Amino acid sequence: MICPICNGNNKQFTEQGHTVPKWVLLKTLTVGKNVLLDKQKGIKERNQLQIKGIIWCNDCERTFNEPDTFSKNFFENKYGIESTNEEDKYLGKKPKTSKYKSACIELLYNFVISVVIRHDQYLRSKNDPSILGPKVQDFICKWKNGKLLEDFDILIQKLDGLDGYIEYPFRYKYDEKNTIRLFLESHIFIILTDQRKFNNKINSQLEKIKSGEIFEIHYEHSPLMTKILENFEELRNRN
Ligand SMILES: [Zn+2]
Repeated sequence: MICPICNGNNKQFTEQGHTVPKWVLLKTLTVGKNVLLDKQKGIKERNQLQIKGIIWCNDCERTFNEPDTFSKNFFENKYGIESTNEEDKYLGKKPKTSKYKSACIELLYNFVISVVIRHDQYLRSKNDPSILGPKVQDFICKWKNGKLLEDFDILIQKLDGLDGYIEYPFRYKYDEKNTIRLFLESHIFIILTDQRKFNNKINSQLEKIKSGEIFEIHYEHSPLMTKILENFEELRNRN
């Protein structure tokens, strides 16, 4: 059997892999806030599925353990350097910001991209439409290449009020560009997959993120979130 991620032949396939690490799911289930976004009601409850399977080889599963371990420590706030607590969290005035070393952001990128790769492989194994399409090998190559801050643009915001919310990666238009969006442990991630770059305003925010600054905003005040809720309404009106 050939592994779809490392392309290795005669590999061992015995370990159960998860799209998002088990610890995230366990935490979500423990917190008991399995939620769904709704423009009117804000957040409402929903059961969240564990997505797992024996899809890649044991070596690849071990490779994923590294970013998973980092992410556990990151989301438990073990890497923050400082957190500035402004009295108003609305963007435009000064939002609350957490500062990290740039190397931490790179490891976070590593984790987020690995989740996208895993989810893409899961969808393929179920013959569902993939999120990375024909670009998958290029995406995996860049990830293995390890120049993550150079090769990827990922917007990150920490959103208060969304504890326990998981959204698996899917294709999404942001700034009229092709992106992939996911939510994990109160953080929203938007990964640029377009040939074109984000506009200048978003790019300047991106540079801040790459240098280690993550805004913390109540989800209703976040521009990323506002755009998502607008789209949500649009989608519902269309149906
Ligand atoms: Zn493999």
